[in-house]
Amino acid sequence: MNVVKLELARGLGRHLRAGHPWVFRKALEHVPKIPPGCVVDLTENGKFVARGYYDPHSAIAVRVLTRDPRETVDAAFITRRVRQALAERQSLIDLTDTDSYRLIHGEGDGLPGVVVDLYAGWAVMKLYSAGLTPYRPLILEALKAGVPGLKGILGRDEVGRDDVDEDEGRGSGKMLFGQEAPEQIPIRERGATFLVDAWRGQKTGFFLDQRENRYLIRRLAKGRDVLNCFSFSGGFSVNAALGGANSVFSVDLDPDAIALARENFTRNGLPAEKYDFLAADVFKIIQSFKEEGRTFDLIILDPPAFAKSQRAVQAAIDGYASLNRQALGILRPGGLLATASCSARVSPGDFMGAVREASFKAGVDLALVEERYQPPDHPVRLQFPEGKYLKFYVLQSV
Ligand code: SAH
Repeated sequence: MNVVKLELARGLGRHLRAGHPWVFRKALEHVPKIPPGCVVDLTENGKFVARGYYDPHSAIAVRVLTRDPRETVDAAFITRRVRQALAERQSLIDLTDTDSYRLIHGEGDGLPGVVVDLYAGWAVMKLYSAGLTPYRPLILEALKAGVPGLKGILGRDEVGRDDVDEDEGRGSGKMLFGQEAPEQIPIRERGATFLVDAWRGQKTGFFLDQRENRYLIRRLAKGRDVLNCFSFSGGFSVNAALGGANSVFSVDLDPDAIALARENFTRNGLPAEKYDFLAADVFKIIQSFKEEGRTFDLIILDPPAFAKSQRAVQAAIDGYASLNRQALGILRPGGLLATASCSARVSPGDFMGAVREASFKAGVDLALVEERYQPPDHPVRLQFPEGKYLKFYVLQSV
């Protein structure tokens, strides 16, 4: 193995020894001229600290793969990590309840930058670093060898990569192995079924991280008038309807997501014409409901990440406060607000603070009913708090 040694700037080895997986470019003594994916040994005063792979394009120059100097980064290494991830899913997720889960969650599974979601036997892979390109064939082999009943592997466009040319399929998927995945893959989740657009849908086609929260909404929706904001393909909406909601209104900016939401209702034996769907801007819709005096008894807010960079954090917190405040303006007394944030940079404390601010400004007292984070197929390493990105709170207007 051709390994390059990189010396860390003074005092920066500590967090790596503890298990944090990132090294920013500015933490290196010298910036090397080595290709993407090159294996590097990070050293402090010449002593081994951790081994990782290099990314010349990202602010995160090295992502750590192991802290064991004897562990070589090869096919067997990747296979071990995939097998371990699979074993954890099998022990922590009820796989009789669903045929779909996140198999590899990057840093949480010791494979930084790698995301693999499994949808009813099809794997959808996203690599989030140029440094992973040389490992792609090894990851594919590990998936083929490790995942029982694997039907095929679909590769999706990869964020932040400038070494990929067009025909590698930017924007849409490309089969990398096995049978051609259908246009829409039907998946099972707690007795419900959803169509997943793994080829072109947002992220890998579905938001598996909200699985448990969707089920919670099914339990809470009975007899309520439900407004699902940022509904995407209707995951929460279908669950609300299955739970006996009086009415369900789904809003999303993306017309394709709304079309899929309708289909998902039909698939679950729910007549789509009895429910409301609208491709529109949530902020405008809430405003117009406010003007009409239209109110709801369960409002779900699951917006896209507001803070895409560290500088945008305060603006994101203000954005959450303002969105939640608006929603509280059309929530009936005694009603429920289910509010989520998937911005990794907004901490649970800051997000709760934003909701508290919203409650104060709207003049609505709230009681915390449920406080949840991501499910175990999106594992969080304790030494990598950035990995705990999903917050989901249910509050009751009292
Ligand atoms: N709740 C969904 C996931 C939501 S992802 C689920 O459980 O599956 C965020 C969604 O917000 C995306 O579908 C995106 O199209 C939508 N979106 C982003 N900005 C929006 C806006 N201003 N108004 C309405 N929808 C918006």
